[in-house]
Amino acid sequence: MKKTTGDQQLVKRINRSVLLRLLRQRKSLSRAQLANESGLTKSTVSLLVRELIDEGWIEETGLAAAQGLGRPSTPLRLHGTRRAMVGAEIAVESLRVVGVSLIGEVLWSAEEPLDDHAPEAVARQVAALLVRAQRELAAQQVLVSGIGIGLPGAFDEGSGTVRFAPNLGWRDVAFLPLITRALAEAGSPPMAVHVQNEADTAALSEYEFAGGEATDSLIFVTCGVGVGAGIVLNDRLFTGLQGMAGEIGHSILQIDGLPCSCGRRGCAETFLGARALARQAEPGRGGVYLGVVLQNLWTTFNPGALVVGGPSCESYPDIVPTARQTLEGYAASAGVAAPTVRTARYGLLASAVGAAALVLHHELRPMHARTASAPAPVEMPGYPPDVALPASIH
Ligand SMILES: [Zn+2]
Repeated sequence: MKKTTGDQQLVKRINRSVLLRLLRQRKSLSRAQLANESGLTKSTVSLLVRELIDEGWIEETGLAAAQGLGRPSTPLRLHGTRRAMVGAEIAVESLRVVGVSLIGEVLWSAEEPLDDHAPEAVARQVAALLVRAQRELAAQQVLVSGIGIGLPGAFDEGSGTVRFAPNLGWRDVAFLPLITRALAEAGSPPMAVHVQNEADTAALSEYEFAGGEATDSLIFVTCGVGVGAGIVLNDRLFTGLQGMAGEIGHSILQIDGLPCSCGRRGCAETFLGARALARQAEPGRGGVYLGVVLQNLWTTFNPGALVVGGPSCESYPDIVPTARQTLEGYAASAGVAAPTVRTARYGLLASAVGAAALVLHHELRPMHARTASAPAPVEMPGYPPDVALPASIH
């Protein structure tokens, strides 16, 4: 057997991700169509398809294509029940954990209150619920691909550290080693764990399970105790240098305004955070400020999709229509059409479902880590014989 080098492994992962993304986008394709659309040879496609079927990523639908019977034209699609990602949202007052299929279906979910904010206690409680999810999914014969966690703070991927989570009272908490150890202690098998800000994960719940929506940028604004934006640009989650990108709740709306949880004054959170809305006689007024926040994000990024979610949208249903009107008013003043603002598809589960989607986001972009510094040269001595370029597929 030939020795497989690191670069060959990367090429193989890229090619697998190309096939998976094609199937996600097009729903159903035969091996021949996959070869055609990816530019990979039929033999490479056959080999990879066999592997992906064996690992539960994709399945044959059993319906032979019209042009004739036989394996080459058997339609393939993502497997909807065999494989899942587990996602957790650490909110300020609660904890939500979900198991989500490759096509975005919630297979299992649970929620419990979070009463102790000490990092070790949070890690222990999250780990226990994540292990429960793994066991529930195993009982349904579902394979778990990895774990994603969304939390209300800025997460620095490079160091695995939560830089700043004012509503949890955390600063420079080395969370990744903490949760990795807690998972092992709770009995989890070793698996990939990804952590990100909860607004970022919420954005991925809309982006990764969009069902072929033709856009490579999306912004999700989450309204709860904190207010944050998850930003997808050019098909990648954009988190900034220290994971602080999209902390729109701490953009200043008033000089010398009310004190904010972050230590500054006059932040957006002091106008439309859940605590501010609870204080106001007219919480709908918070919707005007949400409209201001949306206006600022829209003019800064001009994203393909703008989504609003979070508990305040449920508790104060007036804020979203008011925000839309505000945004439309600004657009009319400038003589341009206002963007569409839609509400979260997964409702209160958006961040947890998106945390699961974070696993998929990394799995389908194997070049991500390498391109963070410099693009690695792709060498192809022997297997696999060819490489497709994932850049051409959304
Ligand atoms: Zn602030």
